Amino acid sequence: MKLPLAYYGNPVLRKKASRVEGIDDELRQLVADMIESMDEYNGCGLAAPQVHRSISLFVTRIPHRDENDQIVSGEARVYINPKVLSYSEEVWALDEGCLSIPGLRDAVVRPMAITVEATNLEGKTFTEELVEFDARVILHENDHLNGVLYIDRLPPKQKKAIENHLREIKKKYS
Ligand code: ZN
Repeated sequence: MKLPLAYYGNPVLRKKASRVEGIDDELRQLVADMIESMDEYNGCGLAAPQVHRSISLFVTRIPHRDENDQIVSGEARVYINPKVLSYSEEVWALDEGCLSIPGLRDAVVRPMAITVEATNLEGKTFTEELVEFDARVILHENDHLNGVLYIDRLPPKQKKAIENHLREIKKKYS
C-alpha cells in the first residue's frame, strides 16, 4: 500500500525517532509498504518519519551501474536502528532532494565514506562500509531519524535562497 508522505512543516519530521524494539508482522508490513511507496514516489530512500511513523527505520533502493555500464535499479534494503560508526574526513558535495520537500534540490556537503551498523528484517545485525552516493543516501535517511533535514546542512546563504519556497511548501501541505 502506498503510504501518504509527511511534508516539510510536519512536526513528525523534526522528532527524534524511537528505537524499534521488535520485528513483528506489523513492522514487516510497514517495511513492505515503505518499499512500495519509495518505488512509487521514485525515491532512492525513505525513512519511517516521512510516512508519519517516528521509529528508527529506513529503506533504500540505490541505482548502480551494471557490467555494461547501464544504470539499473538496485535491491531494496532495510536498515533498522541504524548507527553510523565512522565518517571519513574527506567530504564532497552533490545535489540532493527529498520526497518531503518537493520541488527543491541543493548541493549538500557530506562525508565521502562511512561505516554503518544496522539490523535487517531477519533481526540480524550487519555492518557496511559505503562510499560516495551510497554513503550519501544512508546519511540523508539517517538524518531523518534524528529530525534533521538536508536543508539544515546548507550554508546560510543557500538556505536564505530557498526560504520562500520552503514557506510555500509549508502553506500547501499544512
Ligand atoms: Zn529526505
